[in-house]
Amino acid sequence: MRLSFWGADHEVTGSCHMLEAAGKKILVDCGMQQGPDEYDNQEIPFAPGEIDYVLVTHAHIDHTGRLPLLYKLGFSGEIHATGATADLCSIMLRDSAHIQEFEAEWKNRKGKRAGRDAVEPLYTMEDAEGVISLFHPWDYGQEVDLCPGIRIRFVDVGHLLGSASIEIWVTEGDVTRKIVFSGDIGNLHQPLINDPQYIAEADYVVMESTYGDRNHEATAIDYAATFAQVIQETFDRGGNVVIPSFAVGRTQELLYFLRHIKANDMVKGYGNFPVYVDSPLANEATNIFRENMYGYFDPEAMELVRQGINPIGFPGLKVSVTSDDSKAINFDDQRKIIISASGMCEAGRIKHHLKHNLWRPECTVVFVGFQAVGTLGRSLIEGARSVKLFGEEINVRARIVRMPGISGHADQAGLLRWLDSFSPKPRKVFVVHGESEICDSFAALIASRNQVETAAPYFGACYDLATGVCLDPGVKRQPQQKPRTRQPSGVFARLVAAVQRLVRISNRYEECANGDIAKFADQVDALCDKWEIKE
Ligand SMILES: [Zn+2]
Repeated sequence: MRLSFWGADHEVTGSCHMLEAAGKKILVDCGMQQGPDEYDNQEIPFAPGEIDYVLVTHAHIDHTGRLPLLYKLGFSGEIHATGATADLCSIMLRDSAHIQEFEAEWKNRKGKRAGRDAVEPLYTMEDAEGVISLFHPWDYGQEVDLCPGIRIRFVDVGHLLGSASIEIWVTEGDVTRKIVFSGDIGNLHQPLINDPQYIAEADYVVMESTYGDRNHEATAIDYAATFAQVIQETFDRGGNVVIPSFAVGRTQELLYFLRHIKANDMVKGYGNFPVYVDSPLANEATNIFRENMYGYFDPEAMELVRQGINPIGFPGLKVSVTSDDSKAINFDDQRKIIISASGMCEAGRIKHHLKHNLWRPECTVVFVGFQAVGTLGRSLIEGARSVKLFGEEINVRARIVRMPGISGHADQAGLLRWLDSFSPKPRKVFVVHGESEICDSFAALIASRNQVETAAPYFGACYDLATGVCLDPGVKRQPQQKPRTRQPSGVFARLVAAVQRLVRISNRYEECANGDIAKFADQVDALCDKWEIKE
């Protein structure tokens, strides 16, 4: 029996681990690599046709995004997950295939004009639908015998609807080992979903370490009250509230708070103001949340359900789907909230809503999630004075608010709490799914704190689970140096915008009087002399 590591090893994305036991090959997750961790999404580093089972911890794309590729390359085994995870995967993998097809088509349109060969999408809708048909849904806590010698169980880990740690018992002859894969460990007190459940025993633990080096700020903000105040102030000024949000998870949390705000009349004077959710994926996800309340929602949300109240629905909730509906949202005077994908403002309909609302000082843009460096969302929270949308320069005059969202990830204290529940101690803890230094430092921390053997494996590392011996140390992958066009950010973005403004102004002087041109030129020269950095 062997365990090997094929993704999210000294990296945060691309989760993929393989267990070989009882004559079977079992994958745990098959995620897409994203951002700086992207190495080789095009390839699967083993023969997909030889995999018997895939177990999925949760539906996020960095844990599931290469499943359609696995299928395309010959996988035809069974996929096991919780019911809610299976349902969420059915929309998220289709959405991912749509993006792959769209991007390939776009590249091909450009490539054709430049005489380049056509590129193939990473996978197609057909591949996504094929792999979706292989899912077997289970409840939390159900023991499932996959085949003689392999038993599994999904345990709620409170990260996303349906998210799970997976317990796996494998038996070969008279040797039985239990391996627990943590999946992404959730934070405490998230709306709608339960807190992480703890597991008592394991021989081996494979655990994530996203926040292995830090704790969340202990600010006990009253989320609903803060949110209500922002809405009230914006409506009183005559503006709209625009919220770039992630379609799955974060949007449903917002709906939960908005229901509470409306039910308790926390925004006064605007009746049942409309809340538009302008993202087809977000609306499909909301339906899946609604269909999977029992067994997945936390006690507070279930109490509402028992009273006949939909925890993520309310009067005034509008789900616009066609792109004409989407455009129409900005052409009436009513105060409104617009929730739209994508979370980092890089794509989708949110750009249209920003174009119509960013220049209006009475409006507010609320950020509820992490904004990666180089994204439009990051520029806005760092104070960009103007941004370019659809080739048009848009002044940023709306109020920009950053609402510290409730993180979906446990912090260092949460990770340690989860690990501390194992008694007796595991034989070994493998630390994965964290930035490279964090994997190492968290492994070192738990080795000394918990007096347990640890390893932070590299890509391709392999261990014998009967003896615990390392058979292959794996290789350290070097991050790809991708040429990227970086957006200026922070105050530097202001400087770039100011210089662009100067150029625009000077262009209009061509037809003006020579005296004015000379005066202008002298002043610009003087300014340059003042600020030029002399080497
Ligand atoms: Zn996740």
